[in-house]
Amino acid sequence: MNYNDEMEKLIKSFDGKRSLLLHSCCGPCSSAVIERLKDIFDITVFYYNPNIEDQKEYNFRLNEQLKLLKTLGINCIIGEHDTDAYSQAVAGEEERERSHRCYECYKLRLEKTYKKALEEGFEYFGTTLSVSPHKNADWLNEIGLELEGDKTKFLIADFKKKNGYLRSLELSKIYNLERQNYCGCEISKRKRED
Ligand code: SF4
Repeated sequence: MNYNDEMEKLIKSFDGKRSLLLHSCCGPCSSAVIERLKDIFDITVFYYNPNIEDQKEYNFRLNEQLKLLKTLGINCIIGEHDTDAYSQAVAGEEERERSHRCYECYKLRLEKTYKKALEEGFEYFGTTLSVSPHKNADWLNEIGLELEGDKTKFLIADFKKKNGYLRSLELSKIYNLERQNYCGCEISKRKRED
């Protein structure tokens, strides 16, 4: 399925702005997604990333995120940094990037985003994760569509399409955002260090 085409079809059917709780992994990735969606949705960013086990790294990414959102005038809800929830979600999974471990990592973050969106009365929930060429858009959309309910729908998307990732690099320069050099968990950190 072309998730970008599906998103565009959906957006065309709107007769006004919808509310969206947008899970974000970091400031640089969210920059291009927000630019793409800001005229279509009233966006609130949800920063929920318990997969970033290193506290210093977590704080660094959160600060970059808040810096961008302050510039753009967009609200942010900061989720709990519950690294135990991440460890439980990936327990028994292979210690390898892009394995099923990542599926469970996406699922944890999307489940929390859906619950928060439902609680707070958002019409849509979604995530910036698909902007990265390393993230599996099939998995992200499959998980999101399984979670959605009548009150809060999932925003089907593949933000890497239409040069989304390239745009996030350009916008990171414009907004002076520093980009991290690994995905988030300790395994991805070790792999980068190796
Ligand atoms: S590599 Fe990235 S997506 Fe996969 S488990 Fe680690 S932090 Fe999550």
